[in-house]
Amino acid sequence: MGERTRVAIVGAGPAGLLLSHLLDRVGVDSIVIDARTREQIETTIRAGILEQGTVEVLHDTGASDRVLTVGGRHDGIELRFDGEGHRIDFAASVGRAVWLYPQHEVLKDLVAARLSAGQDLRFGVTAEAVEDVDSDRPRVLATGPEGERIEIEADVVVGADGSRGVTRAAVTGAHGGFFREYPFAWFGVLCEAAPSAHELIYSNSPEGFALISQRSATVQRMYFQCDPEADPDAYSERELWDILQARVPGTTLNEGPIFQRDVLRFRSFVAHRLRRGRTVLVGDAAHTVPPTGAKGMNLAVADVLLLADALEALLRRGDESGFDAYAERALGRIWKAQHFSWWMTNMLHVAPGASDFDRRRQVGELRSVVESEHGRAFLAEAYTGWPLAR
Ligand SMILES: Cc1cc2nc3c(=O)[nH]c(=O)nc-3n(C[C@H](O)[C@H](O)[C@H](O)COP(=O)(O)OP(=O)(O)OC[C@H]3O[C@@H](n4cnc5c(N)ncnc54)[C@H](O)[C@@H]3O)c2cc1C
Repeated sequence: MGERTRVAIVGAGPAGLLLSHLLDRVGVDSIVIDARTREQIETTIRAGILEQGTVEVLHDTGASDRVLTVGGRHDGIELRFDGEGHRIDFAASVGRAVWLYPQHEVLKDLVAARLSAGQDLRFGVTAEAVEDVDSDRPRVLATGPEGERIEIEADVVVGADGSRGVTRAAVTGAHGGFFREYPFAWFGVLCEAAPSAHELIYSNSPEGFALISQRSATVQRMYFQCDPEADPDAYSERELWDILQARVPGTTLNEGPIFQRDVLRFRSFVAHRLRRGRTVLVGDAAHTVPPTGAKGMNLAVADVLLLADALEALLRRGDESGFDAYAERALGRIWKAQHFSWWMTNMLHVAPGASDFDRRRQVGELRSVVESEHGRAFLAEAYTGWPLAR
């Protein structure tokens, strides 16, 4: 015999947890399941940059106080090319900011908030399929931590299970989505060292791209452009520091022991459909962006805000209009974020086989951004986040 809830949420990432939090605030019950353990969820290193609107949502809805007390406000970034740094001053350009607050800290806050509210949040439960997708009683079929079969019937099933989950295929079927791959990836390292800069440095150099980012007073996160097939273990620590250092000419990096390294492939994806019947996609299940514009988690939050309002109207007042309009409304922002992420990626990375013309054109593009009030404002507005629709 299956269980029943109003909203079955597959995935306890930022999208799934925030959605259940917002639904709870308006009296809509949900069950959230995730294939991973709580510890895995709370320790996986991923995003770090939160748009101002994301911070306001987390703080103002009671999901996180720490985002303001532990997170660090950043009023700008540096674009570095031709051996010189150029600051994009967000505050001066658009009067907004971003916060450096790691995704796993957001997840710790959301998990704690959900559990203290008595949320039905289940770890180690893997969705295998969504059935009766075209009916108004879709069901999630899942396997629990001891191998037990779980069946959850709901008014609405939400796929918040990321880019490798099962709900995307249930919604898109054979339609799939719009897809683009890139001929490079990021080699990411976590190291024990003091910060090398107060703000993020996005550096374009003839050797390739590097991002100098921060985590805390003692731990730093840095990336450099690499081949998608690169083997993370094939480099000595010395080689990694030499590569990073060569890509930020004019800056001296604080070095220290590297304790984590990984290769992150780049993909752009937007599902052809975000909704089928009463099953709907949010966050990375619906779209993926390359990480250069720091948009992934922020876009998930924007989807969730729209969907939470739509589900409140549908399930509390029987008003279907917001639910019907969800996909179209969400896609407006999704494609803007796709463009921004693609643009930042192509402007800053060096494509394999790039000619002298390509290199000089790229520097011309960077100059047209940093030397123009309007160019700086375009970047600042997108990076700090367009207004959130509710
Ligand atoms: C290295 C890196 C750096 C990034 N930097 C940034 C950044 O600075 N800013 C930014 O905004 N974004 C960034 N991103 C992107 C961001 O991390 C994602 O966009 C974000 O995690 C999406 O949230 P989500 O909840 O949609 O999906 P996810 O975080 O992927 O969560 C999906 C959840 O679903 C669960 N799941 C999957 N399949 C199943 C199943 N079958 N059954 C049950 N559960 C399942 C997973 O275990 C997972 O917990 C970065 C990503 C990476 C990898």
